[in-house]
Amino acid sequence: MITRTEYDKARKRAALLLEKTGISLQPGELERIEVADFGLGELEQTGAEILALVNTEKFAVKLIVLFPNQTLPEHKHPSIGNYSGKEEAIRCEWGLLYLYGPGEPGLNPKGHPPEHRKSTYTMWHEEVLYPGDQVIFPPETLHWFQAGPEGAVCWSYSTKAVDLLDIFTDPDIQRGTMIVDKG
Ligand code: ZN
Repeated sequence: MITRTEYDKARKRAALLLEKTGISLQPGELERIEVADFGLGELEQTGAEILALVNTEKFAVKLIVLFPNQTLPEHKHPSIGNYSGKEEAIRCEWGLLYLYGPGEPGLNPKGHPPEHRKSTYTMWHEEVLYPGDQVIFPPETLHWFQAGPEGAVCWSYSTKAVDLLDIFTDPDIQRGTMIVDKG
């Protein structure tokens, strides 16, 4: 749960980070930045600011903004009926991204998920993404990522996105953001 004031503040902050990338965006698009707190109400630690630029029946293009050290929690994109699930490329555009998926765990990971939720992070194979680096995750593959100390902006290029059906490892997470008006 997040207040309207917090939501608007996070959206403005995300717009400022997007501005640093030099990517051409229209004012109306910046208004559509979605602030996701994953139902935890701990936006500084766990959250993402997402601008969907394309989302059709076949493919999706999104910009994902993360504040400094903010974590997009571990999840996977499941198959749904005849759809084999979302295949996703994460490409770093600005800042630094610590990204984790299946494979040999790193010995000394740079990413630090929130301490009280650490048990819900099971993937520890590390890729450090600088601008221009990308990693592709097949459907049904657990992954999570965290921004470096200055934040990060990355692209998500994927097949059809059905965000509300994504499966998160942390049972406390709800993908839909609930905004309350007070505050
Ligand atoms: Zn994903």
